[in-house]
Amino acid sequence: MVNLLDFTLPELTDWMQQELGEPRFRAVQVWQWLWQRMARDFDEMTNVSKACRARLAACASIDWPEVARVQESRDGTTKFLLRLADGAEVETVLIPSESRDGSRRWTQCLSSQVGCAMGCTFCSTGTMGFERNMRMGEILGQILVARAHLGDTRPDWPILRNLVFMGMGEPLLNLHEVMRALKSLNDDKGLNFSPRRITVSTCGIEKGLRELGESGLAFLAVSLHAPTQELRERIMPKAARWPLDELLAALKSYPLKTRERITFEYLLLGGVNDGPEQARELARVVSDIKGKLNLIVYNPAENAPYEAPTPERVLAFEKMLWDRHITAIIRKSKGQDIKAACGQLKADQAARQSAPQSTP
Ligand code: SF4
Repeated sequence: MVNLLDFTLPELTDWMQQELGEPRFRAVQVWQWLWQRMARDFDEMTNVSKACRARLAACASIDWPEVARVQESRDGTTKFLLRLADGAEVETVLIPSESRDGSRRWTQCLSSQVGCAMGCTFCSTGTMGFERNMRMGEILGQILVARAHLGDTRPDWPILRNLVFMGMGEPLLNLHEVMRALKSLNDDKGLNFSPRRITVSTCGIEKGLRELGESGLAFLAVSLHAPTQELRERIMPKAARWPLDELLAALKSYPLKTRERITFEYLLLGGVNDGPEQARELARVVSDIKGKLNLIVYNPAENAPYEAPTPERVLAFEKMLWDRHITAIIRKSKGQDIKAACGQLKADQAARQSAPQSTP
């Protein structure tokens, strides 16, 4: 059985022609049912002939990730623990915001790998290790689950507005499937997300960075978190194998469209990277790159190795950047009451499952 969600449109067209003898337009119809009308059963595809539906049902499936757990924060942030067909679990998060007319819009944080090999010291996912890459259908299946949850069924007026590849995993280490997902997202007969609504976030991986930029299929965010090689080695030891000066040089020549900027993510860890000397150094190293800085206040998980920075240090850090003409915005941490940071829900679920059961 093949999962139809794993096909790009050209692949689906070829497969339906070769395996089922169906014309090209039939593949487009099926594709629209899968991604725009979110069909989960071939019988829903009413403009596809009964014979074709029967042939599809005999050799293919439509496998959405299964929702294992949902947590909703007081601020509306909603986190899903999803179970994939082989039992592997990943997380995806929906983050609300308000548009100018007062209506709610959503950003979805997507996972691209089960676990992660990068081992960043502040990240719950990093402590789990790497299990496997996600396939395209699994990556995009997270969006189907979210849209169904939101009742987001009007392709012409979507309320799920933005996608960020900032969940579990390092997207550039699963470049092949992430690029296929980005191409499929861009298809106007499918999910129809413009590249301006998608951000791919990397901790700084050399291989694949250029290819992503040249594709023009998404904006780039880079998790910097430290302004010196030495501090980066402490906080993100594996990412730091690509020396900071080489990463910064690559970002200077990264292909950007007019008015496009790289987003630098900087997680403020209390007493570690939130001091005036780091702010000065950070301003210096990013000053000649077309970018903007997001300052994220660390939200400690249980048994976390770091503390949250004090509000005074956060404000002083931001001010030092603005004083040096660096655009820096403090991002409010959402979903603090539901463990919304990457990997925390999965870690919590694993702890629950391994906890000794009380006997009556
Ligand atoms: Fe992996 Fe991202 Fe966590 Fe680092 S921060 S361990 S790259 S998921």
